[in-house]
Amino acid sequence: MSNNNILSNRVMAIEPSATIAMSQKSSELRAKGIDVINLSVGEPDFNTPDHIKASAKQAIDNNFSFYTPVPGYADLRAAVVDKLRRENGLDYTPDQIVVGNGAKHELSNVILALVNPGDEVVIPTPAWVSYIQLVNLCGGKSVTVPAGIDQGFKVTAEQLEAAITPRTRLLILCSPSNPSGAVYSRDELAALATVLERHPQVMIISDEIYEHINYVGAHASLAQFPALKERVAIINGVSKAYAMTGWRIGYVAAPLWLAKAVSKLQSQQTSNVSSIAQKAAVAALNGDQTCVETMRQAFERRRDLLLELLRHIPGLDVATPDGAFYAFPRVTAYFGARTPDGDIINDDTDLALYLLNSAHVATVAGSAFACPGYIRLSYATSDDNLRQAAARIATALSSLLPTR
Ligand code: PMP
Ligand code: GLU
Repeated sequence: MSNNNILSNRVMAIEPSATIAMSQKSSELRAKGIDVINLSVGEPDFNTPDHIKASAKQAIDNNFSFYTPVPGYADLRAAVVDKLRRENGLDYTPDQIVVGNGAKHELSNVILALVNPGDEVVIPTPAWVSYIQLVNLCGGKSVTVPAGIDQGFKVTAEQLEAAITPRTRLLILCSPSNPSGAVYSRDELAALATVLERHPQVMIISDEIYEHINYVGAHASLAQFPALKERVAIINGVSKAYAMTGWRIGYVAAPLWLAKAVSKLQSQQTSNVSSIAQKAAVAALNGDQTCVETMRQAFERRRDLLLELLRHIPGLDVATPDGAFYAFPRVTAYFGARTPDGDIINDDTDLALYLLNSAHVATVAGSAFACPGYIRLSYATSDDNLRQAAARIATALSSLLPTR
C-alpha cells in the first residue's frame, strides 16, 4: 500500500450510515430484478407539496442564483424564528439560527463545535445511527444509556444522572425518536431538566426533526425550560414535515456563541446551502400548514395498519410508537433458530439479512442504533407495501426452525 492510501484517523473512526447502506443494498437487489420492499430508509414517500415547488421555480426565474449569506437568507432565518415562536413558544433572534445542508449537517456542525477528543457525550439508546459516528469523528466518547422496550424506550432521570461525569460535555436527545418512535412528554422532560440543571457543564442537542410526526399531542422540547434554554441547540428542518428530504434544508437554533461557531465552520466548509432550496423552505415554513397535518394523519393510519399486521406475527414484541414513522419490534425470540438453508440466526443483523435475502424485505438491524435485539421497519410507504411486507415477514419467520 502506498502512503497515498492512508486515511486519517478521523475517517477510520467512523462507519458508513447503516440506514443508507441498507437502502442501497435494497436498490441493488431491485436493479437485479428482485422485487424488494424497502422498509429500511426513513423518508416520507409523498411528493413535496405544490406550493413549495412553485416557490423554488419562482426563485430560479427571479435569479436567486448567487451565494447567499453563510447562515442562510434573512427571510428563511426569519421564517424559522417565526416558526419557533408560533409553534414552540420560543424566542430566538435571526442570528441564533443557522441553516445547513439538512438537519444532519447542523447536527454534525454542533458536535464539531462542542466536542474535543476525550469529551463524553451521553446518548440514550436506541439512538439514530449518526450520533455515535459523529462523536467518533471528533474523538469524543459516547456514553450510551440503554432504554429498551420495557421502559418505553425512554431514559429516566436516574439513568441520566448516573451517566453524567465531570467529563460530560453534551447530551443528545431525540424526540420523537428515530428509531423507537418514543415521544417524551413535558413531564418526562421536566425530570431530565432537573438533572441537567445540576450539571451546568453539559450542553444539549435536542433533535426535533420528527416534531410534526407525533400521534400523542403537543411537542415538548428541553429548550422550553428557561433554566436550560441557553444550553440547548435545537436541530430541526423541513425534510420530514414537508416531504423535502432531497432539498437538504435543516437548521440549528442555539445560543449566539454556538450559532456563530457553526456559521464559522460553514464559511469554510460549504459557504451556504442551495439558494433555490432555501426559497422553497421559506414557502414551507410560512405557507399553508395543511399538508403537514394531512401527511401526519397518513402516517398515523399506516402506523396502526403495520402494528395490527405485526402483532399477528408470533415472536415479535411490538410497542406502539407515539411518533416518527418507524416500528421497532424486539426480535430476540428468533435468536438461535435455523434457516431453511441451515444458517443460524445469532442476532438482529442475521435476522435483518435473512429477511432481506429470503423475504425480500429491507429493514435495519437494531445494532445499527446501538440497540441489539430489535429491527427497525419504516412505515413511510403504501398500505399495499406494508401488507405485502408483513405477509412476507410472517412467512419467512414461520420457516425458521428452533434449534433448542
Ligand atoms: N435526525 C434524525 C433523528 C433523523 O432521523 C434524520 C433523518 N435523516 C436526521 C436527523 C437528518 O435529517 P435531514 O434529512 O434533514 O438531514
Ligand atoms: N433518517 C433517515 C433514516 O434513519 C434517513 C437516512 C439517514 O440519513 O440515515 O433512515
